[in-house]
Amino acid sequence: MMGLSVVISVIATVVFMATFSAGVNMPGLLISIVMPICLGGPMILTFAIGTERMRHANAQLTRLATIDGLTNILNRRAFSAAVEKYCAAPHRRGVLLVIDADHFKSVNDRFGHDQGDEALRDIAHALSLTIPPSGLVGRLGGEEFGIYLPDIDLASAEGIADDVRRAIADIDFMPEGITCPLSVSIGGAAHEKPIVFRALYREADARLYSAKQSGRDRVALPQAA
Ligand code: GH3
Ligand code: MG
Ligand code: MG
Repeated sequence: MMGLSVVISVIATVVFMATFSAGVNMPGLLISIVMPICLGGPMILTFAIGTERMRHANAQLTRLATIDGLTNILNRRAFSAAVEKYCAAPHRRGVLLVIDADHFKSVNDRFGHDQGDEALRDIAHALSLTIPPSGLVGRLGGEEFGIYLPDIDLASAEGIADDVRRAIADIDFMPEGITCPLSVSIGGAAHEKPIVFRALYREADARLYSAKQSGRDRVALPQAA
């Protein structure tokens, strides 16, 4: 870019000097080389810095639009869009788990909202560590999370769901030095053909409700055929 500016400047100066003055001279040539460097250098630098800032701002916006600010996992929109995209293709099977923290209101009531936030971060972290690399994890809202396990059979999904339940029960959450046990209830739905997220979620949420009704800290999945 800079080289091109210098070449154009030299050509223009030579043509100008040859046409309108007594001929090409050294000071004129030197100025034609130095000026584009002095003026163009800072301009190109400013432009490059602006482009880099824009790129950084775009990356931040994408992050804000897809990642939950509290827990650093996918937000509901990004999670449901990713699941929906996967489920739309033919010959796709998988299992959606909807995970809700039990009696979470009492965590806030006893230790305050900030400690409740800390517990949510711990739960999200444990979920991320427990699922297989192919799985997706997101915060669906409040104290509710989602895990999607692609291309999995029910028996394996049940094993993972129970690992998740136990991983949360094993969290050593001690706000203000006081042990505060955490637990989650999990409802699941499986599909063996294309499905929309809403339908899959509705089924998993109904099972989550039955897991809550039957005592919490448990997993409710469809019966294997
Ligand atoms: P259940 O076992 O039936 O799910 O009981 P619960 O208390 O977890 O459910 P409920 O729907 O009554 O209350 C949810 C609580 O989760 C209340 C709300 O303040 C808390 N909560 C939701 N989002 C956040 C958050 O971002 N931070 C904190 N600290 N608390 C939250
Ligand atoms: Mg809850
Ligand atoms: Mg809830």
